[in-house]
Amino acid sequence: MFDIYNFFNKLSELNVKIRLNVGQPDIPVDERIISALIESIKRGETTYVSTGGINELREKIAEIHGVQPQEVIIAPGSKFLVASQLFFAKKIAVISPYWPTYIQMAKKFGKKIQIIETTFEDKWIPDFNLIEEDVDTVIINYPNNPTGIVIPKEKMKELVDIASELKIKIVSDEVYRDLTFNKKYVSILDFNYEKGIFVYSFSKTFSMTGFRIGYAIAEREEVKRIQKFIEIMVTCVPKFVQKAAIKALEIKDEIKRKLVEIYRSRVELAKRKLNKKHFEFVEPDGTFYIFPRLKNNISGTTFAHELLKRDVGIFPGEAFGNYNSHVRISLVSPMLENGIKVMNELAAELSEKTLLGIIRY
Ligand code: PMP
Repeated sequence: MFDIYNFFNKLSELNVKIRLNVGQPDIPVDERIISALIESIKRGETTYVSTGGINELREKIAEIHGVQPQEVIIAPGSKFLVASQLFFAKKIAVISPYWPTYIQMAKKFGKKIQIIETTFEDKWIPDFNLIEEDVDTVIINYPNNPTGIVIPKEKMKELVDIASELKIKIVSDEVYRDLTFNKKYVSILDFNYEKGIFVYSFSKTFSMTGFRIGYAIAEREEVKRIQKFIEIMVTCVPKFVQKAAIKALEIKDEIKRKLVEIYRSRVELAKRKLNKKHFEFVEPDGTFYIFPRLKNNISGTTFAHELLKRDVGIFPGEAFGNYNSHVRISLVSPMLENGIKVMNELAAELSEKTLLGIIRY
C-alpha cells in the first residue's frame, strides 16, 4: 500500500515550494479565536476538565444542531473520534477513494475491511447494496476527501435503510460540511438514525488544526462509550482550547461565508487553468480538493514524483485506493496558479513521450 505519510515527510524534507498536497488550510486562524484561547489561559483555565467537554461548549453545539447536550461529545480532533469508532468495530466498510487514515487505522487495530469502490464514470457515487452482511460499521465522508463530492439525499436514505436492516453503525465524517458550494449537502443528522455518529472538526472551517478539537453527536449510550475512550486515552480537551472553539462557533457564519468564496474561486481557477487535454475531474460539491484523472496513460504516482522535482507537491491517487491514473490537488495555496502551470507543462511532456511510445508511464 502506498504510504501517504512517507510521501508527505519526503515533501517536507525537500522543502517543496508549492504545496498542493496538504490538508491544512492556508487561511490563518481568526484573531478573535486566538484571543479567546489566550484570555482563558490568563484566567488560569489550565487544569483537567470534564472528559465529555465543558458544559458551555456542549450546550452551544447542542443548540446549533437541535440535540441534547448529553448527545454531544468533545474530543481532541475528529481523527480521535474516528479512532473511537473503528477501535470497537469488527468489520468496517470503507468507500474508496478514501481518506487513507481510515484504512491505516483499521489495519492498526487489526480489523477486517471491506472496500466499496466507486468510479469516475459513476461520479464517485457508491452502491451501498454491496455492503457485506458481517460488516458492523460503515464509514462515510461527504463532502469527500479526495473527490469533493456529496452524495444525493436519496443515496444517504438508501444507506440508512440498509444499515438499519443489517444493524450497522454509520460513522459520518462531516469535517468538510461547512465548505460546500451548492445546496447538495446532506447530513446523517437529517435521518435521526440511532446508530448514526456525526463527526465534526474545527480544523477545516477554522484552520484550527493544531488546536486538536472536534466533536461527535450520537445517542447517549454511544456518547458515554466515546467519553470512556477519551478518559482512558487523553483525559480531556484543554479548557482553553474549548473556549477558543466556543468563540469559533460564535463567528462561524462570517468565517464560513468568506471561506466558501475563496475555495469556490480556486475551484473555478482549477477548472479554467488545468489543461483539458491532460486532466479531467468530477466537479466538487465542496471541500478544498479536486481529484483529476490524467489522460494518455500517465500514472499519478509517476506524475507526483516528477512534479516533486519541479517544486510542486501533490498526492498520487494510489494513496486513496485503486486510482493510479488520478492525483489529488489541495486548493490550499495562493500559489495554485503557478502549480497548475507546472502541472500542465509536465503533463504535456509526459503525454508526448507516452504517445510516441518512447516511455510507458
Ligand atoms: N477526516 C477527514 C476526511 C480529513 O480529511 C481530516 C484531515 N485531513 C480529518 C478527518 C482529521 O481532522 P482533525 O484535525 O479534526 O483530526
